[in-house]
Amino acid sequence: MASLTFLGAAGTVTGSQYLLEVDHHRILIDCGMFQGLKPLRLRNWAKLPVHPGSVQSVVLTHAHLDHTGLLPRLVSNGFGGRAFCTAGTADLCKLVLPDAARLQEEDARRANQGRYAKHTPALPLFTENDAAEALSRLQPFGFNRPAPVAPGIEAEFINAGHLLGSAYVRVRRSNATGGTLLFGGDLGRYSRPVLPDPSPGVACDVLLVESTYGDREHPPEDHGAELARIVRETADRKGKLIIPSFSIGRVEEVLYWLKKLEDEQAIPVLPVYVDSPMAVQALEYYRRHAAELDPDARPARGEVCAFCTERFSPVGSARESQQVVDAKGPSIVISASGMAVGGRVLHHLAAGLPDPKNTVLFVGFQAAGTRGRDLIEGAHQVKMFGQWVPVHARIEKLNAMSAHADAGEVIRWLRTFPKAPGITYLVHGEPPAQVALKARIERELGWNVHIPEYLEKVDVAL
Ligand SMILES: [Zn+2]
Repeated sequence: MASLTFLGAAGTVTGSQYLLEVDHHRILIDCGMFQGLKPLRLRNWAKLPVHPGSVQSVVLTHAHLDHTGLLPRLVSNGFGGRAFCTAGTADLCKLVLPDAARLQEEDARRANQGRYAKHTPALPLFTENDAAEALSRLQPFGFNRPAPVAPGIEAEFINAGHLLGSAYVRVRRSNATGGTLLFGGDLGRYSRPVLPDPSPGVACDVLLVESTYGDREHPPEDHGAELARIVRETADRKGKLIIPSFSIGRVEEVLYWLKKLEDEQAIPVLPVYVDSPMAVQALEYYRRHAAELDPDARPARGEVCAFCTERFSPVGSARESQQVVDAKGPSIVISASGMAVGGRVLHHLAAGLPDPKNTVLFVGFQAAGTRGRDLIEGAHQVKMFGQWVPVHARIEKLNAMSAHADAGEVIRWLRTFPKAPGITYLVHGEPPAQVALKARIERELGWNVHIPEYLEKVDVAL
């Protein structure tokens, strides 16, 4: 018998981490950071229920921080093994883990400058050195090939279509005796550009599946019509279109649509700047791994890049970035961070928000307490660099872009399984979404579904 302990993403959407114990071996599936409200973030400091040095290996489903962000800490606390992942995940980890370390170190420094930190100096969750050490442990492995993650135990990555390199993971014994576990990771969407559809499900006894949008359906696809309208209206006003965007994944989708709309002559050809070093590097990784992407994201014959619009410019140095900030005339600027909490996009917003010719377009979820949320809720001014900036630019939001399957798409994926798993655990979701999805799976598929609690430990057949 083996056991599975839900160390995160239980009743919440972050902190994905599951401890599999089998034959005295310990394997962690995902090693994600908790994000969001403080009680959740405090869990990042919690001790593992077992010593990190006793963990044989880690298996990462994809590079998002809520699935990988605690790996540097695990390593600094004594984990000595390898972290298996796909090549795409390994590449994207080279961007996200050092970046997360820098933010941790900055936060700690800032806290130590405050008056409360005198007696208990704030520490970063992990440092850039820890992140570098974690990167050295990554063991890239191809899709659809069994990786030996512990003696007699293998894990196989199957493309999940959620992010470059993203996978769901099948774990079973190398000698094919015993049961099969399927760790769903995050599930992508159907018929979307850039990423392929999620691969069909495979027979398993235990399934973990995400429930982020378990009570919601995404708006229907408009084939870029709304984006085209926003680009045209901004160009007609001779304004700039500023798009705060997450550096990885979303930038590719925005560029895909801009290029398509240009090709269809649905929008004028404008200079398009990608002003985020991380986004530019991620774009390069997407190009390098184009064979794993949706066919529509592979360059057409004679093209260098499926994401490069006619007048596409990656922005490098801070000086070049300032030149784009100062430039007049219609253009499109895509820059991070996606919720306008930091990064180069702040300079574009500080210069662009006071001008009614401009448009700021949000393309992702805006969490409470962020500038992005304030802006979409109609703030007349926002504080940036210590000053109030008046908001006269037009503020727009596109809801259609999401990397996570909605409830209907989860059900659609579950219908591709050759048979019902013995048990399906709903993870990576807030309770209302989980309750709704559980009821729907039971009603529509008749499957056995359980919603695990944080730190719950269950027996699994393996
Ligand atoms: Zn994800």
